[in-house]
Amino acid sequence: MVFDFTEKEKGIQPRTIWCLGRNYAKHAEELGNTVEARPLVFQKGLNALSPLSATHTLFRDHGEVHYETEIIVLMDRNDKGSFITGIGLGLDLTLRDLQNELKASGKPWTLAKSFDGAAIVSRFISIKEIPLLNQIRFTMVLNQEVRQRGDSSQMILPLEKIPAYLEEYTDLQPGDLIFTGTPEGVGTLKPGDEVSLDLAGHHMGTVRFS
Ligand code: ZN
Repeated sequence: MVFDFTEKEKGIQPRTIWCLGRNYAKHAEELGNTVEARPLVFQKGLNALSPLSATHTLFRDHGEVHYETEIIVLMDRNDKGSFITGIGLGLDLTLRDLQNELKASGKPWTLAKSFDGAAIVSRFISIKEIPLLNQIRFTMVLNQEVRQRGDSSQMILPLEKIPAYLEEYTDLQPGDLIFTGTPEGVGTLKPGDEVSLDLAGHHMGTVRFS
């Protein structure tokens, strides 16, 4: 079963977008960040949400836009508590120049991470189709060239432990999304670029940026 995220009848409506940073050691290193046992956490607003579709207009005039390809967890809840119900793939778009400026002056990253369209989210694959949460492979192909290849086995905080980490601070609810961090290979997007995303043997979609 595949959740169609864009149709209310079939899917759960999005609620909160949680994001992990520095959850893959090699990516933390490529940006010159130290690796800690627990990843950092930030949020994107729902204004940032953009379903993965054929075209996407890049945010302009604020420096470089970087892609970060990430497994996204979709949460649901029953009377026993919250649980992972679906797995998707997405792009955490980041205004990297602005983020670096904000980081250098110790300010929050919000504008670099939560501008409109900054959270590209694919459809979701039911958790029932994913036998091993710690062995989910994904690839991001930019203009026919593989740029990011990830595997949930490389996460510093394992995927199945991420909800419990957040639940120390919040009761996760149906429709909460968690971007789980990016592996190495992040880079710049330009108008005309075409990105193709594959997750656990499923083609999730191809998007052309303008
Ligand atoms: Zn990210």
